[in-house]
Amino acid sequence: MKKDDIVKVKIEDMGTDGAGIGKMDGFALFIKDAIIGDLVEAKVMKMKKNYGYARLMKVLEPSPDRVEAVCPAARQCGGCQLQVMDYQAQLRYKENKVRNNLKRIGGFPDVELEPIVGMEVPLYYRNKAQFPIGKDKNGRIIAGFYAGRTHSIIANRKCFLGARVNEPILDRVIAYMESEHVEPYDEMTGRGLVRHVLIRYGFTTHEIMVCLVVNGRKLPGVERLVKSLTEMEGMTSITLNVNQERTNVILGKEIVSLWGKDYIEDYIGKIKYQISPLSFYQVNPVQTEKLYGKALEYAGLTGAEIVWDLYCGIGTISLFLAQKAKWVYGVEIVPDAIRDARNNAKINGIRNVEFFVGKAEEVLPEKAAEDGIRADVIVVDPPRKGCEESLLKTIVEMGAGTVVYVSCDSATLARDLRYLCDRGYELVRGQVVDQFGMTVHVESIVLLSHKSPDSHINIKVEFGEGEGKVSLDEIAESAEKYKLAPRVT
Ligand code: SAH
Repeated sequence: MKKDDIVKVKIEDMGTDGAGIGKMDGFALFIKDAIIGDLVEAKVMKMKKNYGYARLMKVLEPSPDRVEAVCPAARQCGGCQLQVMDYQAQLRYKENKVRNNLKRIGGFPDVELEPIVGMEVPLYYRNKAQFPIGKDKNGRIIAGFYAGRTHSIIANRKCFLGARVNEPILDRVIAYMESEHVEPYDEMTGRGLVRHVLIRYGFTTHEIMVCLVVNGRKLPGVERLVKSLTEMEGMTSITLNVNQERTNVILGKEIVSLWGKDYIEDYIGKIKYQISPLSFYQVNPVQTEKLYGKALEYAGLTGAEIVWDLYCGIGTISLFLAQKAKWVYGVEIVPDAIRDARNNAKINGIRNVEFFVGKAEEVLPEKAAEDGIRADVIVVDPPRKGCEESLLKTIVEMGAGTVVYVSCDSATLARDLRYLCDRGYELVRGQVVDQFGMTVHVESIVLLSHKSPDSHINIKVEFGEGEGKVSLDEIAESAEKYKLAPRVT
């Protein structure tokens, strides 16, 4: 096989970026936009030693799971990799992927996975969008997305994953720019003003935030923009983000207030969050609530536990668990996220949490060495690369009875679970939760429990005489019967 060959190939799998994979003469060919089950004609673009890339030319026989993409720009954009796959098939694919990784990488042949949690409607679910602003070849102002792996903007104000408010907001921003002759930023020359429009929407509160990322500190005729945007119901925060650097990092550090508050509020479950333009916040709060609800269930809290939430971000899981735990410690490397976490604890009146800024693999061992700090439940939610081995080592040493692992990459999840399960833990069960319909991304959650007699189960009892109360002697007796070492807190 060589460049420019036309091949006919059956797609058997999909890679981590969603490209279809077909086998040809012992080579794996990656073919974007082809899905499992398709028989396709493709043109070889590039060959490496053991694999190659080909371009989809024609679907000869469509997969039974193939559907029409909802978005006319799906193929050009690349933000959604699975739009041409039926949603139920997407869910099956994602669950299989996690199951296979647990089997192949982790050596867990038969993990009990609860049925995958899908979305009711896998569209319009993102609460945050960042649209680049530019010009088309006729000089008209456009908002849209960067065509896959490039920096040329394709005009499209309607992203099917985003909230429905995005489109009318972009219409108003562009109408304002046209009437006041405000130039979009040009990456090539570094001239022009408006770079991006950042929109956030509170799905529960219906509050809207619009933040214009600007190569400057002021916008001409800005009252007109404010007037137009504030006609929209729910408008809560209008700001500028100053970004005068020649960089493709979207946001600068400084926020200039134009109208209203500098943040919006939203809820995940009963917990309220304040979200500013620069804050991290889960993009799909509906599915996040389901995922973190599962974390709460797996943590099995009775009210007596000391919980660690490692990689805690803005404390979403910490605050969720604090509702049922004795005390929660959160650890996160980004100082601004911890500032948000502390503020979120405060506005919800949650006092049994404490947050530390630092690397989980450094903070946990330091604190574990301090007297009286223990861990009954440890939750980890690391980025794709998974946990440092040194952190896993500390978890094993602390011997927490329960570990809950939330993961956005099932390959590193499988690797880390193998480490823990070779050193005293047992994989109880797990679940896949789809937070990102139409894309290849997927979240999983796994419950681990410690096997050694050292580990403990928490049983909440009341001491004393009389009905429903238990004496110390009775505890000792049961402990002996069930071969447990009682630890009274
Ligand atoms: N549970 C969080 C999101 C976790 S995303 C929430 O719901 O908000 C992973 C987080 O890990 C990110 O916030 C990232 O900044 C943080 N992180 C990355 N490496 C880290 C490390 N070594 N120690 C602690 N936190 C880390």
